[in-house]
Amino acid sequence: MVAYDTLPGGDRNRFNQGHTATHEIGHWLGLFHTFQNGCDNPGDYVDDTAFEREAASGCPRGRDTCRSKSGEDPVTNFMNYSEDACMTHFTRGQGQRMVDHWMAFRSGRNTGEPDPRMAAPSSDWRRGPSVDVRADAAPDGRVEASAAVR
Ligand SMILES: [Zn+2]
Repeated sequence: MVAYDTLPGGDRNRFNQGHTATHEIGHWLGLFHTFQNGCDNPGDYVDDTAFEREAASGCPRGRDTCRSKSGEDPVTNFMNYSEDACMTHFTRGQGQRMVDHWMAFRSGRNTGEPDPRMAAPSSDWRRGPSVDVRADAAPDGRVEASAAVR
């Protein structure tokens, strides 16, 4: 569920391009915030999102709140709290986690226990099929998100 004023055309200043919905769908498909667990392992359980001490506000590109870990804060990631115009992508690892979560919990095709990799991604996890995840805001205000496994 998202507030109606966050949808395209809504009155929520800086948060009305629809990426609140993109973000919430990310949660529904098993993603945590990029700042989950701060600078501490296991972070957000995704290997290719940099660690981040706290949520971003606005669009602080270049910020690095976890100096002991590699990479600048993922402020343009859909799973942060940046304003909509700042958000551009999910990472490949997030895409894989969403596909794995879908297969384990949402598809109705799971026949056994939840895949333990959902709680603790391993390096083996990366050897699976590649996935493309896209979420685009069209000029008419529609937001389209898709995931394709190859
Ligand atoms: Zn959230």
